[in-house]
Amino acid sequence: MKVLKFGGTSVGSAARMQEVAKLVSGEGQKIVVLSAMSGTTNSLIEISEYLYKNNPSGALERINVLEQQYFTTVDALYSNIKIQKEAREIVASHFNYIRSFSKSVFTLFEEKAILAQGELLSTAMFQLYLQEKGENSALLPALNFMRIDKNAEPDTAYINEHLKKELAQHPNKKIYITQGFICRNFYGEIDNLQRGGSDYTASLIGAAVQASEIQIWTDIDGMHNNDPRYVAGTKPVPLLHFEEAAELAYFGAKILHPTCILPAKLANIPVRLLNTMDPEAEGTLISNQCKKDKIEAVAAKDNITAIKIKSGRMLLAHGFLRKVFEIFETYQTPIDMITTSEVGVSVTIDNTKHLEEILNDLKKFGTVMVDSNMVIVCVVGDLHHKNLGLQAKAVEALKEIPIRMISYGGSNYNISFLIRQEDKKRALNALSKALFE
Ligand code: ADP
Ligand code: ASP
Ligand code: MG
Repeated sequence: MKVLKFGGTSVGSAARMQEVAKLVSGEGQKIVVLSAMSGTTNSLIEISEYLYKNNPSGALERINVLEQQYFTTVDALYSNIKIQKEAREIVASHFNYIRSFSKSVFTLFEEKAILAQGELLSTAMFQLYLQEKGENSALLPALNFMRIDKNAEPDTAYINEHLKKELAQHPNKKIYITQGFICRNFYGEIDNLQRGGSDYTASLIGAAVQASEIQIWTDIDGMHNNDPRYVAGTKPVPLLHFEEAAELAYFGAKILHPTCILPAKLANIPVRLLNTMDPEAEGTLISNQCKKDKIEAVAAKDNITAIKIKSGRMLLAHGFLRKVFEIFETYQTPIDMITTSEVGVSVTIDNTKHLEEILNDLKKFGTVMVDSNMVIVCVVGDLHHKNLGLQAKAVEALKEIPIRMISYGGSNYNISFLIRQEDKKRALNALSKALFE
């Protein structure tokens, strides 16, 4: 069994859905995970914003426009009039459900129910299209098996058990379709796996069914060696180690959701990144193998805040770092990068919700300085310390850029630099030039 996930652009129009249908109709049993059509989740968020602001007429206007777009897609997608009528009724029922929220109090609970409609719509429409084509397929409702626990972590035992039950209800189907992104939480309410979370759905399902491969189909031919939104002439990386891919995803390579690698890595299931617009392209294979002696790629993560704590008390003392880290733990704020000297420590965070409280508490231990609008640039490859010269090349490439922090040796796969937001584009381009040209 293979798991194939298609992102928003891949199902973004009637023509794209028809292409995806061709791609999934080949040999072998598969589970197909779909995102919402591109733009839909953003539109649903916008609709929710109107409802939060108690502006139902603003919301209704947006709902009507979006519904009309879906009717247009439906009219283009099906040639069988009966199926087209059925699809129109399904679309209308989802939009009437969204409209029903304009009459009641609006909270996060209602917003999550609205956000789920994007994936419910795309999968229902796609299943009907496969039906029209005479494919042997079934729709598995993700809300019946995908669940997160009290800590918003996937409840893998529940997922395994309930996914198997769903599959058993539809034996001998060739194609199973399900929704990415959406799930239920510990209380049984509709929830989701955060923006971009359909990739995570695919890897959780892959691990649950012990898939032979997880394929992430998107609008680009694999993981590129730098961010194509900032650097021209980037190239796909054919082979990546799980750890390399996880670092790149975590540090800003938008092609993969940061959490999506772990389930695949633990179950040792290869992940292949493929391009719906160019299905023959090689893409990227992520597995437990990596290319030796090579820097593979660069990624960048924005909106980072650096905090430096300087203290004479740290000199030759023990327990200082524990006290510092406990403050971040108290405010449930993850730390990304750390550098230390004998008289100070610098850390970075990307969640600044509790910044004020954290700074107040840190001031008990030393002088505190903050730099906001920073970026972590992460260089990934076979960066074992015995590979002489690779990290020097990365440092050399950034010689014109003010570097606030450097982190190396935390894993064998990366070296990270903290720089200012305004230097990001220049830094990414300098790295591409030095490392890949
Ligand atoms: P999907 O909707 O299919 O999930 P995403 O928009 O989430 O697609 O991810 C694909 C996009 O990720 C690409 O269009 C590209 O602009 C962006 N991207 C950022 N960094 C990289 C990278 N290193 N390699 C490939 N794509 C990247
Ligand atoms: N539709 C969701 C989003 O736009 C999930 C996804 O596409 O992965 O974030
Ligand atoms: Mg995505």
